Amino acid sequence: MSKEIALGWIDENDKRIIEISDKAWEYAEVGLLEYKTSKLLADEIERHGFRVERDIAGMPTAFVATWGSGKPVIGVMGELDALAGVSQKAVPYKDPVVEGGPGHGCGHNIHGTSGMAGAIAIKTAMEEKKLPGTIKFYGCPAEETLVGKVFMVRDGLFDGVDACLSHHPSSANSAGTGSSNAMNSVKFHFHGRTAHAAGDPESGISALDAVELMSNGVNFMREHIIEKARVHYVTEVGGGQPNVVPAYARTWFYVRAPEREQVEYIYNWVLEIANGADKMARTTHEVEFLTGCYNMLPNKGLSDLVISNMREIGAPVHTDEEIEFAKKMNESIPPELKKESLRKSERPGWEKMLDEFFDERVLDDYRAGKVGAGSTDVSDVSWVTPTIEFVTTCCILGTPGHSWQFTAQSGMSIGHKSLVFASKVIAASGLDLLTKPSLLKAVRDEWEERLTGRVYKPPIPADLAPPLDQLKKD
Ligand SMILES: [Zn+2]
Repeated sequence: MSKEIALGWIDENDKRIIEISDKAWEYAEVGLLEYKTSKLLADEIERHGFRVERDIAGMPTAFVATWGSGKPVIGVMGELDALAGVSQKAVPYKDPVVEGGPGHGCGHNIHGTSGMAGAIAIKTAMEEKKLPGTIKFYGCPAEETLVGKVFMVRDGLFDGVDACLSHHPSSANSAGTGSSNAMNSVKFHFHGRTAHAAGDPESGISALDAVELMSNGVNFMREHIIEKARVHYVTEVGGGQPNVVPAYARTWFYVRAPEREQVEYIYNWVLEIANGADKMARTTHEVEFLTGCYNMLPNKGLSDLVISNMREIGAPVHTDEEIEFAKKMNESIPPELKKESLRKSERPGWEKMLDEFFDERVLDDYRAGKVGAGSTDVSDVSWVTPTIEFVTTCCILGTPGHSWQFTAQSGMSIGHKSLVFASKVIAASGLDLLTKPSLLKAVRDEWEERLTGRVYKPPIPADLAPPLDQLKKD
């Protein structure tokens, strides 16, 4: 059986798989600066016979590794980027490696490695069983800033892929048909004129006034847009000192909503509010569009496939040592926050889990029809090929997203066993898609059905370059 070969390869190589994940965890590189992480994964998969194209879609750290030829073509994604400010050692109390430094608070060291290991395991079985088809592993940078895959999709790198698999660390084992918010990220640069704020204010034009008026306008707009939309902003530059009328100010907005067209409607309103702010403050401004993404197009066929493979493989159980670690870490999570996080997850039986540390079950699709408030660039892939991003239990219940607690668990045995499990789920599901044409056809038919009447139009302009220096520190 091809699955046994693939799963056997993962069991034989689990130490190496964990070593790669831990190295990526130590590198903890933020978006578009994942040079060492990208090289680590690309070199490893190249050693296993994949043809690797590096520096693609205008991003030096993006790569695609391909093995085999012809149809079907199965894609596997792996993310590379860490997060600023969540540096942490693999211990259950707060202890950063570098104070204020980056860390894998979203577990993308595991995300990247499970995809890579799953792809190599699939290739091992394909080679031995002489299975036709192609396996592609995508090294995807900058998920956190919603950049990597949006540019990779725009540049056609997923064209011809029949289905795509992706894994994300979480506190549950499941594969859902929920969706995520579509989004736009945009900066407004306002220009005015400096003057002495006390001695000569009539000569001044305050760019900060425009930023404040714009925020006010958006906050009034809020009441008249759909309830599910989320709009948030930060003032990046507001001036130098109070006695100088600020000639320059800058504000950064995210606009999110469950459907792409809803984002566009609200976004166009925000652009008009910026024009209105100019009129009121007598400023001028430029719009810097950074990136955008779609909402996730779910696929029940892929969800069922992944869940059945999870059950067949068996989800990890935790050792006494891991429960001790969890107990200690649990002290840093206020019980009321844990309760809210469980309630929000809507997992079955959450009310009875307040005193538990791990959810070791494999859950049925419990988020069907729900829209998560966050956004991901995996969604853009889901509009060009049937896609699933499944989750596995990599952390204790109540662990906040993007936190030092998440970083800690991504770098120790709780994350490790989830990584090995996820690699196997990718391998088994990928092989099912490669070897069962009727299954793949059903997945693709469902996808086409969901797309009916809807067209994917890249949310970013055709000539926009990736913001390579966005997270660079001088
Ligand atoms: Zn993530």
